Amino acid sequence: MPLSRRDFLVTVGAGGAGLAVLPLVGARGREALRAQQPGSPIATRRADRALSSAPGMIRIDSNENPNGPGVRAFEAMRGTFSEANRYPVVLEDELTAEIARTLGVRPENIMLGCGSSEVLRSAVQAFTSPTRALVSPSPSFELAADYARFAGVPVKSPRVDARLRTDLDAMADAATGAGLVYLCNPNNPTATVHGKAAIAGFVDVVGKNSPQTVVLVDEAYHEYVEDPAYATAVPMALDNPRVIVARTFSKVFGMAGMRVGYAVGRPETLARMRGWMLGSSVNQLALAAAKATVGDLARIADEKKKNHDAKVFTAKAFASLGYEVIPSDANFMMVDIKRDVKAFKAECIKKGVAVGRPFPPLDTHLRVSVGTMAEMQKAVEVFRSTLAG
Ligand code: PLP
Repeated sequence: MPLSRRDFLVTVGAGGAGLAVLPLVGARGREALRAQQPGSPIATRRADRALSSAPGMIRIDSNENPNGPGVRAFEAMRGTFSEANRYPVVLEDELTAEIARTLGVRPENIMLGCGSSEVLRSAVQAFTSPTRALVSPSPSFELAADYARFAGVPVKSPRVDARLRTDLDAMADAATGAGLVYLCNPNNPTATVHGKAAIAGFVDVVGKNSPQTVVLVDEAYHEYVEDPAYATAVPMALDNPRVIVARTFSKVFGMAGMRVGYAVGRPETLARMRGWMLGSSVNQLALAAAKATVGDLARIADEKKKNHDAKVFTAKAFASLGYEVIPSDANFMMVDIKRDVKAFKAECIKKGVAVGRPFPPLDTHLRVSVGTMAEMQKAVEVFRSTLAG
């Protein structure tokens, strides 16, 4: 029988380090039940994804890549079927080495995970506790905050600013005494990005005011960024034991269903998270596919161009209808549709287009992921008719 999250917390509570689990265990049963109940955020998200998977639906709700993993990945998977009965040690080392080569870092600076989700979760476990909060913007990708709340860790969530950018000053204030800052750059769901100098300045301020606090920069959408002021935080993560970068194969590489991600950081920092990782959580086929494509710069450029063209087309269509699209540095965009997103989404679903769910507190901002050009052409017609209604 698989371990539930409650069982897992109970199991690690006895000997685990980092997150102070023991005092929380008593309350976990009720929390876990609540998390699964109809109407809970997790249940709602699952139901949402199930709806968008209906046959024929245009799926622009989850920031997935419509083009899939690509030929090299499929060939690599086919060539690995005969190894499916073996634990994936060699391929783990090979993918780690290939990622390191591509980034110009050392293999010991890389830690693989079952999607970057596993990296995010282990960072919450390693660096937060009931007395050391998580700081995560509102709105942002919720996994770290959801997990922290589940584990009884306080969460501070400074709201994004008027331009929907992560409010770095408010985040820095909130970071004092915190265990971990989750900084999503570009931020999901707003698609806004901060430049290199702003992120470096933020890390400096947090380091001075709160030397124990770790900053995790989630670069899930790194490859799509067009803002010339942007740069990856990887060099910072190599220098500074309080900085980690998370990356994923779920976006530009088109492998969301295969669950591969990784952390970049100093070995001593990754070691603090490693104990919370499942270990060999990426399967052979996914490892092989990721290894075959991580260095495929031509494909990344092609994906980026396709995304750019379909995104510009969609943004122009919204603008022509009188709706402002927030400048986007990702494979999705936010647009203020000046009406309730939930009702709008329900209408679009009826017409065969699944868009993003509401992201409180931005109740009138719709998140639209970028599909293929053909999908966006159809989707725009649905948006036009629904907004006219
Ligand atoms: N980080 C961000 C910012 C995301 O938007 C997502 C998924 O949408 C993830 C992490 C999770 O990615 P993975 O599929 O690698 O677990």
